[in-house]
Amino acid sequence: MAEEKKDRTGNCSGGKGSVSVVGIGPGGLEHLTDRAKAALTGADCIVGYTRYVDLIKPIVEGKELFSTGMTHEVQRCGAAIEFARLGKKVAVVSSGDSGIYGMAGLILQLAYADKELNGGIHIEVIPGIPAFVSAASILGAPLMHDFASISLSDLLTDWEKIEERVEAAAKADFVTILYNPKSTKRIEGLTKAIGIISRYRENTTPVGLVRNASRQGEEAIITTLGEVEKYFDNVDMLTILIIGNSATFTDCGHMITPRGYKVV
Ligand code: SAH
Repeated sequence: MAEEKKDRTGNCSGGKGSVSVVGIGPGGLEHLTDRAKAALTGADCIVGYTRYVDLIKPIVEGKELFSTGMTHEVQRCGAAIEFARLGKKVAVVSSGDSGIYGMAGLILQLAYADKELNGGIHIEVIPGIPAFVSAASILGAPLMHDFASISLSDLLTDWEKIEERVEAAAKADFVTILYNPKSTKRIEGLTKAIGIISRYRENTTPVGLVRNASRQGEEAIITTLGEVEKYFDNVDMLTILIIGNSATFTDCGHMITPRGYKVV
């Protein structure tokens, strides 16, 4: 019997197709890693949400494309696995890092749940620069100390759980990153989250808002917890917020969380 060959994800490589789950970074092509670029150019087929595929259009021009709108993640990832089963090299595109609120987990879950697949395709997860890292670099250095990241999207997570996490992060004085802060249908969550954090932090705590970080249309604002509500009209699903901890301060337009070094 031939020896079973397992790859790093524990999958068996049966010589059939493959799925690379590619984190494309924040969007600007200069932020794409060489490894991500190689996976995209080497792919037979690109699978992804239309908006993200558009960001890397010059690299994937002419390739077979399977693109759907938002909230069709299971269908999209299922199709990617199906294409790989047919022997294709598939690149599934995620914005930022594919393992952070991205497609990596779903691809692995679907592949492992598919008993017929029996490990017959190779799967790799290729990291990318996450939005919070891009945003932090634009704001200055707000993540120099411990931080928590919370998505305010209640599509897949109960709102009670989200509130609990916001409160726990605020209580523990974590710098707090808010992903998916507001959509056209979901506007209350951000007000509630800021209200919870305000119970534990001063009104003067710096808050950074970055929209379209490291891609066309980039906008950044640094304000305070007491004033942030004034900017809620500028917040949408292309925005990320970083709320400082009790030591975070602003200087010359930068948001800085001190690590504790003595500075004269
Ligand atoms: N995988 C991504 C996160 C996807 S969730 C990552 O690693 O960062 C989608 C949310 O990410 C958006 O609602 C927004 O809050 C944030 N986001 C993604 N790209 C962004 C960018 N370039 N600028 C600001 N926020 C961004």
